[in-house]
Amino acid sequence: MIPAPVRYARATSLEHAFQLLAEPDSKILAGGQSLIPVMKLRIARPSLVVDISQLELRGIDVRGDELHVGALTTWDELLDARELERPALAAIGECVRGIGDLQVRNRGTVGGSLAHADPASDMPAVLLALGATLQLRSPEGERDLRVAEFFAGPFTTALSAQELITHIVVPLPAPGSGSAYVSVEHPASGFALAGAAALVGRDGVSRVAVTGVAGQPSLLVSGDPHEALEAAEIFGDRFASAEYRRELASVLVRRAVERAAERTKGDA
Ligand SMILES: Cc1cc2nc3c(=O)[nH]c(=O)nc-3n(C[C@H](O)[C@H](O)[C@H](O)COP(=O)(O)OP(=O)(O)OC[C@H]3O[C@@H](n4cnc5c(N)ncnc54)[C@H](O)[C@@H]3O)c2cc1C
Repeated sequence: MIPAPVRYARATSLEHAFQLLAEPDSKILAGGQSLIPVMKLRIARPSLVVDISQLELRGIDVRGDELHVGALTTWDELLDARELERPALAAIGECVRGIGDLQVRNRGTVGGSLAHADPASDMPAVLLALGATLQLRSPEGERDLRVAEFFAGPFTTALSAQELITHIVVPLPAPGSGSAYVSVEHPASGFALAGAAALVGRDGVSRVAVTGVAGQPSLLVSGDPHEALEAAEIFGDRFASAEYRRELASVLVRRAVERAAERTKGDA
């Protein structure tokens, strides 16, 4: 459980990070909570880790009708953010409170979690339900990608070799909205066996997404959740069969929608 020999460099600017990431087997290091374990298992064997933790990509602020979250914002910083106290964004805090332990929440970043694209990770479902967009930067320039288009499969994203997530942008839901995240955790790992996020507005359900049940980190559930989950490709493993996960996801969707609807009453 010791990583293979690896070189380390700390990026002092985005441009510096791009220069360092030009090395073919280099890898970005943010909080290290996912990368270091896979390096210890030698699943990942980068020749160079590029530490981006000192870049100015941290912080949470509301700009106009959008919430901007820097990719290096830690789970703990999200929990402390007053901007997230509104019922329409309650799903974010609800999700973060269930992630890992104190150390993971202190070091782990939201950008690192999205880039790692673990199919059992919690936040992708929340950001999908909230209709978030990711801002990406590479030497070629900047581009925006909706969360729905970012995940390509388990541990696979649309990021290109030298590309970084810089910000997560959440459109502020209309007044009178509520959101919620509900999950059942795997008792050993604490990751979601299944999780569901919902955004409900004055006119009814806006979007629902689930995690932990499909090959990719999040799956949009449109229309009748039972029918949508029946039609979706759900995976099973030694911990829970596909049939069990489908049923569990369906129950969690119902609970998330109910809780989000309840919260609409608290959003002026
Ligand atoms: C014990 C434990 C329990 C956990 N429990 C949960 C849980 O319950 N739910 C859950 O969802 N997660 C859980 N996690 C995962 C945790 O949330 C992630 O490990 C963490 O958020 C990843 O962020 P990081 O900054 O540490 O990323 P790193 O480990 O530094 O990087 C992860 C990956 O993302 C890439 N990367 C990092 N930042 C960027 C960026 N800005 N742009 C592009 N690529 C980038 C890296 O190259 C690497 O491939 C757990 C982890 C541990 C160790």
